[in-house]
Amino acid sequence: MSITAVGVSSVSDRTVPRSAAVGLDFLWLELTNRCNLKCVHCYTDSTPQTGYRDLLTAEDYLSVMNQAYALGCRKMQFIGGEPQLNRDFHRLLVASKTIGFEFVEVFTNLTRLDDETVHFARSAGIGFATSVYSDRPEVHQAITRNRSSHARTINNLKRLIDSDIVTRAAVIQIDQTSAEIQTTKRFLTDLGVWHIRDSRVRAFGRGEDVLSQRSQMSELCGHCWSGRICVAPDGAVYPCVMARQWPVGNVLETPLDRIVQSNALKEVRTTIHDTVWMPKLAGGRTPDGHAAEAQPDEGEEPSYPDEGEPTPAECPQTCIPLTVTPTCPQSCNPTPVTCDPIEPTPEDEPDHKQPTPEE
Ligand code: SF4
Repeated sequence: MSITAVGVSSVSDRTVPRSAAVGLDFLWLELTNRCNLKCVHCYTDSTPQTGYRDLLTAEDYLSVMNQAYALGCRKMQFIGGEPQLNRDFHRLLVASKTIGFEFVEVFTNLTRLDDETVHFARSAGIGFATSVYSDRPEVHQAITRNRSSHARTINNLKRLIDSDIVTRAAVIQIDQTSAEIQTTKRFLTDLGVWHIRDSRVRAFGRGEDVLSQRSQMSELCGHCWSGRICVAPDGAVYPCVMARQWPVGNVLETPLDRIVQSNALKEVRTTIHDTVWMPKLAGGRTPDGHAAEAQPDEGEEPSYPDEGEPTPAECPQTCIPLTVTPTCPQSCNPTPVTCDPIEPTPEDEPDHKQPTPEE
């Protein structure tokens, strides 16, 4: 869908600063569209059979990482499908640190995890994120549609925790009650997971069927207006892992710097900013409903914030690390910050990756 098709004004008429519209701060790299799980809500429609969408070679991925680094990007996440199913996963993981990325995270369903990966992640400071739907195996596995996924994911979470590797878990609400979500968060806390957030399923991919709702831009959390892109296994580039209706180029056809500086990306980021991010923020709530607070200082050292009331920047994005914030490139206060929420908000966040299991 073109931006003009959604009926917004031209970029020149609007207010998103150019640096936000063309920069690259965070890279999602999808290493495969395949997954050993078949989660009911998967936004990438992944299954064990969807590898036919995988066109990028290891050399292509290395080129993308090098191009992103040359553009100033220092934070990235490997994701999928299940990224560990890419046969070059180890090589690409090592390359991310060799190239110089300062923040590297693997979003995986954690149904598999070999010792080599654990040892390297520990030595290189690489973090892991996953999704856990319930403390009860039967609930979790009804969502992943895999009978061994809970035990495998939890076991591998424990291995990471025992190795002092930074872990992050998203609890995506699909049909669990709010009480079940809170119980699951306590279960993960007791397990020793470093960072836990809950969120709701989004109407993208199979999430459309779960919610009986067509995907639309307002389903995005709104953070992706600022400095991030996703490169899919077929080379397609999107402003966000979920924003697949709004492709802005393909790395098999166009150098990344031209895509990052393109009008297409500038247009879609501006549209997300104007039609998703700003209206929610102006309502006294951050996207997805948390009370608005001050933006973090630009240039702030990446570090995981304490748990507690989220800032607008860290708010409800379970798909990327809390350290990656939509900092505003304007020196003045760019966002209308209000103290009193105008509308009640469910505790939710964007969803994402999940756990994984058998082959
Ligand atoms: S683990 Fe992630 S990629 Fe795999 S099916 Fe579930 S949501 Fe999709």
